[in-house]
Amino acid sequence: MGTWIRTGPAAAASVLACALLLVVQQAWYFGGWGGDEVGRLVTDASYVPQALVFTVLAVRVALSERQEPRTRRAWLVIAFAFGCQLAAHCSWFVQEHVTHTTGYPSPADYFFLLFSPFMFAGLLMLPGQSRRRRDRQKLALDVLIVGAGGFMALWYLLLGPILNAPGLSWWERSFTAALPVGDLLLVLAMSTAMLRRHQPETPAPMLLLAGSIALTVTADVSYTWIQLHGRFTGGSWPDLLWLAGCFLLVVAADQQYRRPRRSGPRRGDRNPVFILPYAASVAAYVLLAEQSSHLPLDPYGGMILGSAVLTLLVMARQLHALRDNREMAVTDGLTGLANRTLVTQRLEQIARQPIRPGHHTAVMLVDLDRFKPINDTFGHEAGDAVLVAAANAMRSVIRDGDLAGRLGGDEFAVLLHHLPSREVAGAAAARLLEALRTPVIFGEHVLMVEASIGVAVREDPETSGETLLQQADTALYAAKRAGRGRFEYFSDVLDTKAREADLRRAVAGDELVVYFQPAVALVTGELLGAEALVRWNHPVRGLLGPGEFIDLAEETGAIVPLGAWVLRAACREAAGWRAASPGAEALRLSVNLSPKQVAQADLVQTVETILAETGFPADRLTLEITESVILQPDPLIIGRLQALRDLGIRLAVDDFGTGYSALSYLRSLPVTTLKIDRSFVTGIADDAEARSVCEAVVHLGGAFKMTVVAEGIETAEQAAALIDMGCTIGQGFHFYRPLPPAEAAAVVHRQASAVG
Ligand code: C2E
Ligand code: MG
Ligand code: MG
Repeated sequence: MGTWIRTGPAAAASVLACALLLVVQQAWYFGGWGGDEVGRLVTDASYVPQALVFTVLAVRVALSERQEPRTRRAWLVIAFAFGCQLAAHCSWFVQEHVTHTTGYPSPADYFFLLFSPFMFAGLLMLPGQSRRRRDRQKLALDVLIVGAGGFMALWYLLLGPILNAPGLSWWERSFTAALPVGDLLLVLAMSTAMLRRHQPETPAPMLLLAGSIALTVTADVSYTWIQLHGRFTGGSWPDLLWLAGCFLLVVAADQQYRRPRRSGPRRGDRNPVFILPYAASVAAYVLLAEQSSHLPLDPYGGMILGSAVLTLLVMARQLHALRDNREMAVTDGLTGLANRTLVTQRLEQIARQPIRPGHHTAVMLVDLDRFKPINDTFGHEAGDAVLVAAANAMRSVIRDGDLAGRLGGDEFAVLLHHLPSREVAGAAAARLLEALRTPVIFGEHVLMVEASIGVAVREDPETSGETLLQQADTALYAAKRAGRGRFEYFSDVLDTKAREADLRRAVAGDELVVYFQPAVALVTGELLGAEALVRWNHPVRGLLGPGEFIDLAEETGAIVPLGAWVLRAACREAAGWRAASPGAEALRLSVNLSPKQVAQADLVQTVETILAETGFPADRLTLEITESVILQPDPLIIGRLQALRDLGIRLAVDDFGTGYSALSYLRSLPVTTLKIDRSFVTGIADDAEARSVCEAVVHLGGAFKMTVVAEGIETAEQAAALIDMGCTIGQGFHFYRPLPPAEAAAVVHRQASAVG
């Protein structure tokens, strides 16, 4: 029998039978066949099988291994409550239809009364969400508000009249009052069970239980009211409510069995049930207003008391809500940790404090390893569960006064204050790593997460909060590169080293891109060539301009392989243009050379190899060098530049006019082109000095038979002024911005076919 009922068909059949029974009873009630006596018999007889079924089904839930242990324990107590109902209905049937005993209270009344405390306990035992103390306080207030409202309604309808009713013994009075009080307990427990869930949707069994309790409580209240004003006879309309309530219990118990274990926590909107306390208080106040208008206060003291308590509760709840709003602005919704705003604020505060020995401040930046695969494989709920677990690990490690926050995604920051020494920060990081290693249970999965941590200790009062965070970030990257699952302190060495390694990886790993800025004939706008300008498509920081990494590359020497890479990529791309459109053969390609590259002994060989490899003709290539290269012309360097010239390559002096080029050197160097720096072009319209520098450079170019190219032309007036001076070639945003390779190729193709 056990397995039979557990496997389902029997359960489904009994639920169906109960539904049929309910339909038959209701039909009978409204049909009135066979007179009152038969009607009552049908009604009272309908209860017994329903009660039997819901009791058995509740026991089935309590025994089911598919349910969580806490759910099973709660349902065991609920099954007891159901059992009391079963006993009540059986004995009612016997006393009404077999022994015909009258008398109040009867054994059935005692059993009915027992239902409430068991059900109360069972509902409260249902698993809710683990909560912080503050949340528990709010929940208590919400439930008490519902309770106070319910109490007032009960007082108005029943408790007041019961206390006032003439001719009742003390015992009868208490017993009559006990049923509505039990109902109030049920309402309290049911609201607690529903309100303490964070999920926006309430599970079906809980809704069914709530529906059943609503029907039962309404019926109980009506029953007591009828008893107060006369005598209740079975088979009257409250029975319809009770029976419907019983049927809902049947379905609830069946549904609960079919529900698998809960999945992990879910980030929720607010549970819509939160309106309950507000609705209860409104209802109570409406009743109060209605009362006070035409009834003496005397027996209705409970209403007054109720409303006073209610007012206090609502006020306390509002205070909580206010505090919540304030906190919500600086709290991460998922984990309850501080959000980025609060972390940034605190960092700024830290940066303003003096540095005291024995009171170090440190920032730990924590990044979960392998978080993305968990999210991708098991879904966002699993990812959220991991983030919540990580947040808890952080809470367990920090002390009062420290701050843990989530910066976004799987990145967290922990601010540690008053550390006796630098090393204590590392110890905290080690403890955190250990705490984070605890596996996260998600449904049937055991998820293993680890983290990498970067630690930056504030040692310089000048360090801003932002810098401190950046330092922790650098250390974090170092920890990740060193193999993850570990922590690393920030140090200056680490900083440059880490960034250099990053850059070299970028060169090797195809993270660099070459953009092309077209150079045009100023008068006709005809395309003459393009300058190659490097960009770094950084996996974390996005597209970076040369300003963000060229200096570092110069400093560390990474510029040499980087420069070679750019030259090769640019020549290959430009050779592609030539191959695609014959009209593109006249176009020139300019590539920047850094002083470090010019200082390399194998420069000429490198350039030759690249030209040979890519098939780009040497006489279409211009290499741009900076003024600093020609400032102290070393014979070796001059020899190298001459060798490049001998290959047919042209040499341009970039940003001309900003350094201290000596005219005499310029003359003796194998330079073919001068590029007027953008700063002079910018001032050409309104700055007389800038204008005369431009004029001077144009004249100088003429005298030395050099090509002059104006850079950074942003407006038509600037272009016109340059044309007036006799400058013929220019580049700038007015014509084209630096373009990604595909767009540059399209521009070249359009021009070349127009010419062709
Ligand atoms: P540059 O060689 O003088 O390049 C011209 C810079 O001016 C480019 O900046 C370009 O985007 C910008 N520019 C062009 N027209 C305008 C304009 O009308 N208005 C304004 N405001 N700016 C304009 P970018 O690409 O940021 O490059 C900066 C510098 O980085 C370059 O100056 C060059 O010195 C260096 N660089 C770029 N690529 C390389 C490379 O592959 N190797 C080496 N060694 N240096 C490079
Ligand atoms: Mg340049
Ligand atoms: Mg320039």
